[in-house]
Amino acid sequence: PLPVTVNLRDCVEEALQLIKLSDVGREVTCVNEVPNDLKARGNHQRLLQVFVNLVNNALQASIPGDRVAIRGTRLPGGVEIHVDDEGAGIPSGLLDQIFEPFFTTKPPGEGTGLGLSVVYSIIQDHGGLVYADSRAQGGTRFSIRLPAIEEEE
Ligand code: ADP
Ligand code: MG
Repeated sequence: PLPVTVNLRDCVEEALQLIKLSDVGREVTCVNEVPNDLKARGNHQRLLQVFVNLVNNALQASIPGDRVAIRGTRLPGGVEIHVDDEGAGIPSGLLDQIFEPFFTTKPPGEGTGLGLSVVYSIIQDHGGLVYADSRAQGGTRFSIRLPAIEEEE
């Protein structure tokens, strides 16, 4: 499909609704702090897939009482979205492998290791970039950058 203007807050909200249906009862609070005017150009369904995969990983890394926050900011050349969790983090030695297809640290049956490779290719196709790092407060932050919209419709 042709790229359209995607409201990123709505896209994140939709991802959280989908996850809630499959993750009822989890005692992890997910908050959508993406400002409503944050937009990108692309494919709504594929960006939805990105947020579903990143939030699912964040939830799987969380324990009851933790918080997952999705935040967004405008940058000079585009937008940045963060998915922050309070889990155990990713050992620095693994950071260069996590985007590889089939790389997983989860027990058999719990992870396919495909989530982040899908995120990576979707974001590449959107002309953006994705990376993971540790948060100062502990936990993991996944950051996505997407290019600015050239012209508003
Ligand atoms: P899967 O979730 O099936 O294991 P992914 O491609 O989604 O596959 O993630 C690959 C690996 O990256 C995970 O197995 C885990 O080791 C690591 N990872 C991803 N997200 C997080 C996170 N939020 N916190 C800690 N580790 C993570
Ligand atoms: Mg995953």
